[in-house]
Order: sequence, then C-alpha cells, then structure tokens
Amino acid sequence: MNCVTFAPSKKCKMKIFKFGGASIKNADAINHVMHILQQFSDEPLFLVVSAIDKTTNALELVVQQFLSGNRNIQSILQPITTFHQQIADQLSISFQPVQSILDDLATQLENTSSTIGYDEFYDQIVSYGECLSLEIIDQCLQANHFDSTKIDARKWVKTDNYFRFAGVDLATSEFQLRQIVSQHPTTQIFVTQGFIGSTIDHRTTTLGREGSDYTAALAGSFLQAHSVTVWKDVPGILNADPKFFSDAVKMPQLSYNEAIELAYYGAKVIHPKTIKPLENANIPLYVRSFVNATEEGTIIDNNKKYPKTPSLIIHDHQLLITISVKDMSFITEELMHHIFGVLAQCRVKVNMMQNSALSLSLCVDADPTRTNRLIEQLSEYYFVRFNADLQLITIRHYTTQTINKLLKNKEILLEQRNRIMAQFVTR
Ligand code: ASP
Ligand code: MG
Repeated sequence: MNCVTFAPSKKCKMKIFKFGGASIKNADAINHVMHILQQFSDEPLFLVVSAIDKTTNALELVVQQFLSGNRNIQSILQPITTFHQQIADQLSISFQPVQSILDDLATQLENTSSTIGYDEFYDQIVSYGECLSLEIIDQCLQANHFDSTKIDARKWVKTDNYFRFAGVDLATSEFQLRQIVSQHPTTQIFVTQGFIGSTIDHRTTTLGREGSDYTAALAGSFLQAHSVTVWKDVPGILNADPKFFSDAVKMPQLSYNEAIELAYYGAKVIHPKTIKPLENANIPLYVRSFVNATEEGTIIDNNKKYPKTPSLIIHDHQLLITISVKDMSFITEELMHHIFGVLAQCRVKVNMMQNSALSLSLCVDADPTRTNRLIEQLSEYYFVRFNADLQLITIRHYTTQTINKLLKNKEILLEQRNRIMAQFVTR
C-alpha cells in the first residue's frame, strides 16, 4: 500500500471508519471489527475509536465519586480495570500497556490540584476511555497483521480551552494531521481516539459526549477522504429511538441539512457538529450496521430528498426555566440580550424558547453543574421559576396522527409548531 497522499485517485482516497463504543463493546465485537477490516485490506483506512462500551459513563462516575470525597482510588477504578483486563485476556493481547494507562489515570486522579475547575478535571479523567480503547484496538490490529499506525488524537485535534465542549482549531488540526499521516506513506490503517483533543499548551480536552463522530468527520475533511462511515449497532439512522418505538424505520437517505437538524434537537444519531465539515468538503457520511456489514445503511449527502416519515426525538431530563421581570416591566430586546449573555457565560444551550410580554420561558438540558449557576445568576435580576424532570418531544415532518400518539396522557407545558417541526415540553 503506497497511496496515502492528498490528491489521490479515487481508489486511493482514504476511507474513514468510526467504531463507537457499542461496536467494540467486548472481545467478540472487536474480533468482528477485525473481520470487517479484512474486507478492506487493499484500501487506505483511517479508524476513529470510541471508549469501549459504556466506559465513558463509568469514568463520569469515577469523577463523581472522587469529587464527593472518595479517595480510595484503586477501588473506584476497579470496575474499569477488571473490564479492560477481561477483554485483553479474551483477545490474547498484552494487558501491561493497558495497565500503564490505568496507572497514569490513578496518578492523574491523585495529583490533580484543586485549582482546575470541574470541566477541566472531567476532561483529564474521562478522556482515558478512548486511550484505553486505542491501545487495545491497536494491539489487535498488530496481532491481525495489519500494517497500522497509532496516532494520539491530542497530537492533531488542537482545541481551545472550552473544556467538555472544546472548539477545534481547524487550520492547526488539519496541518498537524496531514503532517503526521504523510510521515507514514506505507501505512494501510491509521487509528486514533475519537472525542479527545488538546489545547495549545497540551491540556487534554473533550469535544462533548458522542464526539467521536465529529473526530471522524474532521479527519475526513482534512484528508479529503472518499467517505466517512460510522459503524453502529443499528441498521442506519432510524426515524425514532428503537428502544422506545418498536416501529422505528430506517431512513435510507438524508440531506446534510436534515441530519444537522435531527442531531441539533437531540436525536442520538450523530454528534451535532459532525455534518458541517463533511458538507463543506462534500464528503458522504454512511451510517451502517456493524452486525450486518453488507447492508446499505443510511447515506447522508447533498441530496435534496424530503423525508417521507416523521422523525421523533425524545429528550429527557429537561428543565423549563421561566424568567420574569421583578418590576412587572416588559421583556425587552435589551433584557433578552442580557439573559442570553448569562446563558452563554454559563454555557447552557437552549432547546426551545418562548416569550410573552412579561416572561421568557427556556427549555434546557438539566445539567446541575451549569444550570444551578445559571439560575443563581439570573435570580439576581429577575424572578426565576423552574420545573424539572420534563421531556422535550420534537417531531420533524409531523402529522396530526404522530402528535396525538406521542402526546397521549401527557401534560403539555409549552408547545410550538412551524411547517416542518412541532415541539412540546411535557410532563
Ligand atoms: N466515548 C465518548 C462517549 O461515549 C465519545 C463517543 O463515544 O463518541 O460519549
Ligand atoms: Mg459512544
């Protein structure tokens, strides 16, 4: 293989494959990934891997336990250690390098000074999931005689210091990645971590939960790839979450715009930032089943097709915040400007909003590390009321029938419709 260049013929263009946590959830799944890769053995590939199975959630728990005062580090890391050890054993690869990553993680927990804020601490710890999986997948590639090169994503995904949702410096990251790749002209498979990056001064950052899709899209656009494929445990992008809707159907083709809208409103199909780099570079995104690797899946590209089925997005853990002015004056543009300034400062994203003369209602994800501060700050100036534990239901390309079905037995606190989309905050 000697064609990993940047103006390659179609055949030599790289394919980017992203394997999420579910597609590498245990030793069998990882072996299956190796099997899929064998079918592409004469093509240049660039793999992006997530943390194995639910490791990111497990690491979030580690952060919580540590911050609530548990200093028995070996015991808080035990479940993650045992899990990875078992997988390494089943794959017959060496656990020692995996153990050294876990040792680093323990040291990181022990030494983290109290001077860094929650978001930065979170990133330093939670990023280990992808480091562990990179080590394991890389060893498997070697064991399966692939000609592969492992790249630490922190060497090329360069970001700002907006920890937990870091913004990527596109020009620097592109430069870095192209440089690294060009140093290995004969490599067939590159492999890197999804989700993580680093600041200019080498502090680890993350790109937001499910951010590996975005990493794959960045690699695709920087390397002018043939395509990006996200291998998932579903047959493609479905119009609803099959966990809640047994009649969910696959959408064979989506436009870039439709995919962005779905992701923005919380469909767990693809990380919201994924589409833009691909649309700009006109690179198709395939979402395919790793179980039935010959099935077509969903293709997202610049087609103009209008979806035939309504898409249903259910978003739990919503907080409805209602803000009104203490002296009964109106909600003016100046006040909105101030309120949105506070939102931006607290890094809270608004999922739905509605205003009247005297109040402004905002539906946001309940994330106490951010929303408590938001409510505190707004309360200095306004009357602030809130309702917790709500659900945001978004229906794109709605029909009356779908609305009625979804809202059955629900109390509606807020609703909004335009020609394409209907949204309801419910209890
Ligand atoms: N492992 C990270 C997460 O679970 C990133 C990803 O899977 O894309 O959110
Ligand atoms: Mg994942």
